[in-house]
Amino acid sequence: MDFQLSEDQQTLRKWVHDFAETEIRPVASHYDETEEFPWPVIKKASEIGLYTPEFYMDAVANDQTGLNLPLALEETCWGCAGISLGIWGTGLPLSTLAYSGTPDQLMHWVPLMFGTPDDPKVAALCVTEPGAGSDVSALRTTARRDGDEWVLNGQKIFATNGGPANVRIVVATVDPNLGHRGQAAFIIGPDTPGIRAGKKEQKLGIRASDTSEVILEDCRIPLENVLGGPEKLEAKFEKARSEGARSSAALKTFEMTRPSVAAQAVGIARAAFEFSRDYAKERQTFGRPIIEHEGIAFKLADMAMEIDAARLLTWRAAWLARNGTFEHAEGSMSKLKAGEVAVAVTEQAVQILGGYGYIKDFPVEKWYRDAKIYTIFEGTSEIQRLVIGRALARS
Ligand SMILES: Cc1cc2nc3c(=O)[nH]c(=O)nc-3n(C[C@H](O)[C@H](O)[C@H](O)COP(=O)(O)OP(=O)(O)OC[C@H]3O[C@@H](n4cnc5c(N)ncnc54)[C@H](O)[C@@H]3O)c2cc1C
Repeated sequence: MDFQLSEDQQTLRKWVHDFAETEIRPVASHYDETEEFPWPVIKKASEIGLYTPEFYMDAVANDQTGLNLPLALEETCWGCAGISLGIWGTGLPLSTLAYSGTPDQLMHWVPLMFGTPDDPKVAALCVTEPGAGSDVSALRTTARRDGDEWVLNGQKIFATNGGPANVRIVVATVDPNLGHRGQAAFIIGPDTPGIRAGKKEQKLGIRASDTSEVILEDCRIPLENVLGGPEKLEAKFEKARSEGARSSAALKTFEMTRPSVAAQAVGIARAAFEFSRDYAKERQTFGRPIIEHEGIAFKLADMAMEIDAARLLTWRAAWLARNGTFEHAEGSMSKLKAGEVAVAVTEQAVQILGGYGYIKDFPVEKWYRDAKIYTIFEGTSEIQRLVIGRALARS
């Protein structure tokens, strides 16, 4: 086992860190306050080659270690998790497409998801509904076949990039008798009649990230826009009817992308840790820097150790996602640990800054707000424990 990053990985990490330091950090509080979508930062990321299909091909798809994407995500989230989600939010629908799409679908849709450096675009994965979050089998959105077309109807909520998305992948029920095994994912391109963005949510944290409702009203799309193609879908349903397939494409994607979500949480935790450590070296009480008070030093020691533990679980899960398969829900373990560490570490960082931690002149209160989502989206902490528990019961 080699814990040393390669030279290429160290270069990648420094490149992304420099971008986060110069282009993300300085504007983080602006986007947090205004909740504007960070198009200018996404454009810069696109111009330097960080937000492009080529980056995903060269640095991610061709990376046998699986670590390149988590390395990059940790750095951009160190800058600002909300802005970072603007840059990487497309990764979730992209992974779904890469996991289940045909080569033709990839060739056609990926350029539309990213746009160009002059005119960047983003994409969204729309699964959650008002009555179906953790319980994906309860989806009410339907896809009905009508000749050469699918007709989709329903209401999606909380979709990251749901408002500005050029391409949306929507999970809908085709055969309700099969539960979530009767669901499929549909690709909906720009300017398609019958799909529109609804309410944009106002949030506690990650406020630069767009979280929107997406409404489908008799939205007609060609037959071939079902992920994997119509023939594969029919074969999948046949198999599910006869022997019971285990899970839908969206659920499989979540398992594979969990290490990437974990890496984001590690980035926020590290930002808060570094800031509070440096503050503790400067701030004096009772005649000495507060880091020399055991009560503060012990907090920092625990924060450093927990961040390391979360990162190591994340890197292991990322490596397994690339090179093996998860045996004991290691993807869920990494996301669960990192999300909870981010919440705990940012909370302690606020405490270390005292009153200054609570006011907006310092970035720590924002990291505290940003961190909380990592115990909620892409599977809540309770659902991660459920997944891990089930894996243990099977093993
Ligand atoms: C900012 C943001 C961005 C998001 N981005 C996306 C996106 O891009 N695409 C998308 O499709 N969705 C997205 N979501 C939705 C997100 O994934 C869901 O909110 C999440 O999965 C939880 O679902 P829910 O909100 O319906 O909570 P519920 O499922 O109603 O859960 C409520 C509570 O009950 C607990 N619970 C539920 N079932 C169990 C159980 N069996 N055992 C123990 N506890 C249980 C949960 O852990 C939670 O604490 C986003 C949400 C937010 C807030």
